[in-house]
Amino acid sequence: MDKKEQIFQELRKQNVRITKQRRAIIDILDGQHLTIQDIYSQMKKRGFHNLGTVYNNIDFLIDHKIVTQIFINGKKHYDLTIDEESHTADSHIHVTCKVNNNIIEINDSDIFDYIRDHEIFKNFNIEKLQIVVEGSCKHYDTQHCKRTDACFISKLSK
Ligand SMILES: [Zn+2]
Ligand SMILES: [Zn+2]
Repeated sequence: MDKKEQIFQELRKQNVRITKQRRAIIDILDGQHLTIQDIYSQMKKRGFHNLGTVYNNIDFLIDHKIVTQIFINGKKHYDLTIDEESHTADSHIHVTCKVNNNIIEINDSDIFDYIRDHEIFKNFNIEKLQIVVEGSCKHYDTQHCKRTDACFISKLSK
């Protein structure tokens, strides 16, 4: 049994129903950060044509902390939180190269602990803590190279 299957079993124990459509959303989001348009176009290929239902299912997955929303390059993206143990919404930094919209993740829980431990949060419940770094690979400044395959961030994501 793979790890995802174990997670689904755990969710079933908590009476969280992973229907076919919810499962499809989870599969589509695996390893990717996608907008609703991206998700919907892939859902249509799998035979799910009702955008409202897709939205409802995403909301359900967000409510159960299986999916999180994150603004990257000015657009709402959806991100899976269950693919690895360290991968909660609040434990990894997103870095995006705006030239080609490539996104990578850096797992560095120390930075997040450093923020949580700040004395200002002693009497405060943090509900959301996300770090997004936006920018562009330095060689793009020289204007001689904007090819997709030249992106430093996309190379790191492979
Ligand atoms: Zn992520
Ligand atoms: Zn780049």
